[in-house]
Amino acid sequence: CGVFGVVGIADAANFVALGLHALQHRGQEAGGIVTYDAEEGFNSARRFGYVRDNFTKASLMETLPGSLSIGHVRYSTAGSKGNTAIRDVQPFFGEFSMGGAAIAHNGNITNADALRRELIERGSIFQSSSDSECIIHLMARSLQKNIPERMKDALRRVEGAFSVVAMTRTKLIGVRDPMGVRPLVLGKVGDHGWALSSETCALDIIGAEFIREIEPGEMVVITEEGGLESFHPFERRPSRFCIFEHVYFSRPDSIQGGQSVYETRRQIGVELAKESPVEADLVCPVPDSGTPAAIGFSQESGIPYAMGIIRNQYMGRTFIEPTEQIRNMGVRLKLNVNRALIEGKRVILVDDSVVRGTTSRKIKDMILDAGAKEVHFRIASPPTAWPCFYGVDTPEREKLLASQMTPEEMAGYLGVNSLKFISLDGLYRAVGEKNGRNPKAPSYCDACFSGEYPVAPSDMIEKGFEL
Ligand code: 5GP
Ligand code: SF4
Ligand code: MG
Repeated sequence: CGVFGVVGIADAANFVALGLHALQHRGQEAGGIVTYDAEEGFNSARRFGYVRDNFTKASLMETLPGSLSIGHVRYSTAGSKGNTAIRDVQPFFGEFSMGGAAIAHNGNITNADALRRELIERGSIFQSSSDSECIIHLMARSLQKNIPERMKDALRRVEGAFSVVAMTRTKLIGVRDPMGVRPLVLGKVGDHGWALSSETCALDIIGAEFIREIEPGEMVVITEEGGLESFHPFERRPSRFCIFEHVYFSRPDSIQGGQSVYETRRQIGVELAKESPVEADLVCPVPDSGTPAAIGFSQESGIPYAMGIIRNQYMGRTFIEPTEQIRNMGVRLKLNVNRALIEGKRVILVDDSVVRGTTSRKIKDMILDAGAKEVHFRIASPPTAWPCFYGVDTPEREKLLASQMTPEEMAGYLGVNSLKFISLDGLYRAVGEKNGRNPKAPSYCDACFSGEYPVAPSDMIEKGFEL
């Protein structure tokens, strides 16, 4: 998901709509905006579909006045899947003793089931099936005297990954979980305004200046007058930013962890070419997620880069389509082979990841149908053998191809001439760690590749998930 918020700018909702539009790649199912205005109080609008189709309508934006606003773009990783109910669309708003608050959450709360059971037993009335709603109820029950303090109370009980953007009547609040698994950045808008965003690309779109990242475990509280206070409400832990943000999730024009996402992806391609070279005529990306790595692979190997697969720009990301059937169709709706280029060629295809393997299989068929002589897959992440419980939608373990097969078996199953994944060390080198991954204290979360979960997924373990 993507979160965004601004304070201290007239017509804040318009800025939030733009920010969410720039974060649309992080969630395409639904979006929502909440505002506060002294005369009108809190207002909210939550809609299915793209930001551009909803939050550009004057009739809707007029209902969202005020100079303080937050928003969220959603794809379901917890709560209702597939047919998201509107009640699960964020931001969530709750009115309690201090005038209420709204929150937008990116990440997954790994003890949400346990918290929900406890809260319901004690009388909380839930409105959604979303894990994020727990935070509002924990805040409502806190005995602290102001909302930021209540939020600290609430979040100290929450396990897992969270980047939260919240608002009260007068303040914009941003928090990252102690390991900083999901991103959150701070920007300055004009003289008095501030913005919080999942990614820097959304600061660019509103002309905000990127100031810094919110630190892992940090909470910032920003007033309408422009004052900013920083707190560290949690016990300090080593930071474990999601390495998959660099591989796939973030936009390539964003800066994460002080590094250009594009440059990291290009470097992954360079590492891949060094680790797993192969003789071929063309290097082609599986667009768009494989593009920067394919460029790096081509530069390092000297094999010409070419657009062997053309993407229809009017389709979203396939994996965000929630059902298997739509996902299966999605590949052909979205990608087509550039036949004139491919015929008779030995082709290296570079993609970001293999999850179920359905995409790769279909693409291989399409490439061979077009007359390619050989197909070699090079993958910009290590084998995805474990599900993510921290906010990226991966299927259950049994459906992950890499949990069932070795890379060699996968190559056979996909029917390609070769299939190579970047090594975990190679990936760490690409994100700037010269010596590769430190196995005693890795500096990123890489659980979907290593199976080492930095926070035990307690709800899942209770349901029988085996580490
Ligand atoms: P597959 O067909 O192997 O399940 O899908 C792999 C493709 O889905 C990759 O090309 C990638 O762009 C996209 N994808 C990336 N990340 C994820 C993820 O976390 N979950 C899923 N299901 N697909 C992803
Ligand atoms: Fe990111 Fe993978 Fe960790 Fe999930 S498990 S937070 S996708 S690195
Ligand atoms: Mg892809």
